[in-house]
Amino acid sequence: MRHKLFQPLLVVMLAASAFAQQSGAAGQRKSSDVSVERLREHVVYLASDKLDGRRTGTAGATEAAEYIAKEFARYGLRGSLSASARGKVQMNEYMQSFPYISGVELGKGNAMTFTPRTDGGGTATAARTPAAVSLDLRAGEDWMPLAWSANARLESTPVTYVGYGITAAELKHDDYAGVDVKGRIALAFAGTPDGDNNPHGSFGRFADLRFKAAAARDHGARALIIIAREENFKDDRLARLRVDESIASGDAGIPVVVISRQAARRALEAAATPLVRFEELEKASAATPPSSPGAQTPGAGGGAAHEAAATTPRANFSAPLNNIAFAVNTEIVRREAPAANVVGILEGSDPKLKGEVIVIGAHYDHLGRGGQGSLASREGEIHHGADDNASGVAGLLELARTFAKDRKSVRRTLVLIAFSGEEEGLLGSSYYVRNPALPLAQTVAMINLDMIGRMKENKLMVGGVGTSTEWKKWIEHANDSLSLNVTARGTTSPEEEMERGKYTLVTGANGGSIATAGRGERLALTLTEDGFGPSDHASFYAKQTPVLFFWTGTHEDYHKPTDTADRINYEGEQKIISFVADIVRSVDASDARPTYMLAKSDAAAGRSGGFRVYLGTIPNYAETSDGLKLDAVREDSPAAKAGLKANDVIVRLAGRDVRNVYDYTYALGEMKAGVEYDVEVVRAGERLKFKLTPAARK
Ligand SMILES: [Zn+2]
Repeated sequence: MRHKLFQPLLVVMLAASAFAQQSGAAGQRKSSDVSVERLREHVVYLASDKLDGRRTGTAGATEAAEYIAKEFARYGLRGSLSASARGKVQMNEYMQSFPYISGVELGKGNAMTFTPRTDGGGTATAARTPAAVSLDLRAGEDWMPLAWSANARLESTPVTYVGYGITAAELKHDDYAGVDVKGRIALAFAGTPDGDNNPHGSFGRFADLRFKAAAARDHGARALIIIAREENFKDDRLARLRVDESIASGDAGIPVVVISRQAARRALEAAATPLVRFEELEKASAATPPSSPGAQTPGAGGGAAHEAAATTPRANFSAPLNNIAFAVNTEIVRREAPAANVVGILEGSDPKLKGEVIVIGAHYDHLGRGGQGSLASREGEIHHGADDNASGVAGLLELARTFAKDRKSVRRTLVLIAFSGEEEGLLGSSYYVRNPALPLAQTVAMINLDMIGRMKENKLMVGGVGTSTEWKKWIEHANDSLSLNVTARGTTSPEEEMERGKYTLVTGANGGSIATAGRGERLALTLTEDGFGPSDHASFYAKQTPVLFFWTGTHEDYHKPTDTADRINYEGEQKIISFVADIVRSVDASDARPTYMLAKSDAAAGRSGGFRVYLGTIPNYAETSDGLKLDAVREDSPAAKAGLKANDVIVRLAGRDVRNVYDYTYALGEMKAGVEYDVEVVRAGERLKFKLTPAARK
C-alpha cells in the first residue's frame, strides 16, 4: 500500500445483520482448504532478509518474482506469453516486464557559474559597486540538479527572488505577486512559511518541489534555484541526487537545482546592490504574510492579475538582487532497471464464459532498504514488508492453488497477477491495464489484496463496494458462509472452541461436523464505496472495471523494517482468503457479469482530495509525457459537459501549460467553482479547445 495516498475514507459500516440463519445455499459450499501453513511459508520467504525488501528494480524483487512464477507453474497455471519450448515451463512466460527508472546520476555536462552583472542591471540606487568575480560552483558540492530537472543549458540569466516560491490561491498566498520572473531564474528557499518538515501543515502539497517548479514555469521562469535548508550542504536531503516516484511523471520542463546556503550567501555578498544579508533574505520569506488578497484571482485566462499586485516586502529585494545571475547546464542521466508483473492464467471451464476474465491481484514489491516511502527513523535497514504485501501475495498464491485444484468448477478465466512498482506509484498495474494479458473489456472484475496480514478482532476493510451493484449482496453472502463453514483449523479444534462458548457444533449433511460460528466469528466489515484508493485496484477502476480491495488496516510497523513475518495473523488471513474465494465464486456463479457502477466519489476520489473544485476527470497518473491523459470522464460532470472524453490529453488548463500531473494538479488548485476556464486537449492528434466550468467539491 502506498503511503502518500492515505485519505480519510468515507466509511460505511455494514449494518450488523442478525446472526446468519443456516441457509441451504451457503451450507452446500465447500469449506475452504486455504492452508495456514502455506500462507506462513510464502510470507516467511518473501519477507526474509534474502529478498532484501523487494524494492522494484532490485535483485530481491526479481527473486520474489521468480518464486511466484514457480508457484504458478507448479499449480498448472499458464503464463501470458506463449511458451517457446512446449511442455517445458519457462519462467519468462509469466513475466510481464515494464519500463522502470531505478536510478539517476549526474551526467558529464553539469555546470553552474555565478556571473555577477557589473553594468548595474538597471539598478538606479546602486550604493556600491559589486565585485566582478564570477564563481564556478561544483556539482555535488555547491549545487545539485534534482532528479526530475529538465536537461538544459542557460547562458547567464538574472535571478528573481520569490521567497518560498509558492503560489496557492486557496491559501491566499502568492510569492510571485508583485515580482517579474519572466525569462529569469526564480530563486526560492526550500520549505513553507509555516515551518519545516510539515507535510500536513496548511501548505500541504505546496511544499512539494514539483509544485514549486510548476509555479515557477507557469510564471515564465526559465529555471528554479532552491536554496538548501541545511547549513551543511551534504546533510541536505535535496543534495542527494536520487529517484523519487514523481520521476515516472516526466521532467519539470525547466532546470530545477538546489544550491548550498554558502553559495547563495557568497552570491548575495558579491553582487547585491546595496548589500543584502542572507539572513535578511531568509527572514523575508518566513516573516512575510501572505500577499494581498486582491492579487489572488487569476482570470479565466490565468496569470495576468499578478502584475497588479501591491508591493510586498520581498519585492523590495528585486532591485538589489538584480546583479545576481547564473549560467546553468543540467544533465541528468536516468537509469532503467528490470521490473515485471508476474501473470498466471487459469483458463475457465465453461466454453462460453471462459472468454470472460476475473483478475485477482496483489503487489509483491516493497521498499527495499528504505528511501522514498519509508517511515523508518534510520536508513539502510531491510524493510521486510511481511504485511505490505507478502501477505497479499501469499493469499494470491493460495487462491491460485485452491482454484487450480478445483479448476473444473471455475467457469470464467482467472488471471492472477503479482504486481510490481506499486510502492512507486501503481506502475505495474497501470502498465497492465494498458497492456492486458486478456482484453480489459472482457475483464468483469478485479480483486485486490494489499496488507491482509494484521487482522484484529475479526476486522476487515473492503473498498470498492460501490463499483458494482452486486458487491454488497455477495459480500454478505460470503460472510454468512464464513459463519457456517469456518472451523478453527490451525488453532484449536471446533470442540475446544465450543467449550469456550464460541461455536455451536452441528452435524452436516455428509455426517461430518460443521462448526457454526457465533456472532463473533463473522467478519466485522468496514465497507467503503469508492473504487479509487492507494493501491492497484485504482488502475482497474479507472478503466471502468468493478473492483474490490481487501485490507486489514495500517499499524505501527507500516512501512518500517519491523513489518516482519512473525507479526502476521495467519489464521486471520486464512479466514480472509476463504472469504475472498467465496466472493470470487459468487462472481463466477452469476451468468451475468457484475454490473459496473460509478461509485460515490467521496474524499477518497483519486488523488485530488483537498481541492475546492470538482471537474470529474479521471487522470492517468502514470502515463504522462506531453500533457495529462484522461482515463475517463465521469458522467454528467463538469468535464463531461465541457465535452472532454476518455483518452483526451489535457495540454492546457485555466491558462496554464500542462505537461504532467503536477502541472495539472497545480492548475486545479488555482481554479474556482463557477468560473469558466479554457481547457485545451489533444484528441487523435488534433488540438481542441473547450470551455469548462468546475463545480464546488462537496
Ligand atoms: Zn506499502
